[in-house]
Amino acid sequence: MTFDALGLSPNLVKAANDRGYSQPTPIQTKAVPLVLDGQDVLAAAQTGTGKTAAFVLPILQRLAFVGGARGRQVRTLVLTPTRELASQVHDSVLTYGRYLDLRSAVVFGGVRAEPQIEALEPGVDVLVATPGRLLDLAQQGYVDFSALEVLVLDEADRMLDMGFIHDMRRIIEMLPINRQTLMFSATFSQEIRSLAARYLVEPVSVDV
Ligand code: AMP
Repeated sequence: MTFDALGLSPNLVKAANDRGYSQPTPIQTKAVPLVLDGQDVLAAAQTGTGKTAAFVLPILQRLAFVGGARGRQVRTLVLTPTRELASQVHDSVLTYGRYLDLRSAVVFGGVRAEPQIEALEPGVDVLVATPGRLLDLAQQGYVDFSALEVLVLDEADRMLDMGFIHDMRRIIEMLPINRQTLMFSATFSQEIRSLAARYLVEPVSVDV
C-alpha cells in the first residue's frame, strides 16, 4: 500500500515521503479514505500507531481543496489532553502541510494567552488545543466556530481521565452540528461510548 493509493494528493504524499514514510501504517490505511470521504470515524488506536498522520493528512487535503479561514474563524479543531500532545500534533500539521497554503495555531494553558490570541486573530485552518485554555479564549470571544468543518477528539479517554469532560462538552456545544467528527481513543469505556453516541453521526469504527 502507498499513500497515493489512499487518495492523498501529491503535495501530501511528498510531505510524508520527505519525513521518511513510504508506506502508511494500518490505522492510516483504514482511516485516511474514510476521513477523505467526509465520514465520522471512531478509531481505537494507541499512541505509536501513526494515528496523528491518520487524521492530519486527510484533513489537510480536504481543507486545501476549498477556501481559507477569515477573521477568528477555525475550520478544524483538534482537542488533545496535554500541552505536549498538542505541540506534537501541531508539529505534524506543520510538517505534513509544508507544501500547502494553510494557517494553523496551537493553544494550551500555563503560558501567556496574548500570543495565542494574536495567532487566532487572522483565522486558522487548523487549531490544536487543550480544552481548558480553549474554553477560556472562546468564552472571551477570541474564536469564531461558525465555519468549523472538522472536530477531532484525540486521546479522548485521556481527556476524560484528566477531568476535561465538562470543558469538552461546552466547547462541542458551541460548534456547528453540520461537521465531521473524528474520535480517537485507546480504550472504550461506557463513558467514551456515550460521548461518541452523542457527538458522532453514524460513525464508522476503525480498529487496528
Ligand atoms: P503517533 O501514533 O501518531 O504518535 O505516531 C507514532 C510514530 O510513528 C511517530 O513518530 C510518527 O512520526 C511515526 N509514523 C507515523 N506514520 C508513519 C508511517 N507511515 N511510517 C513510519 N512511521 C510513521
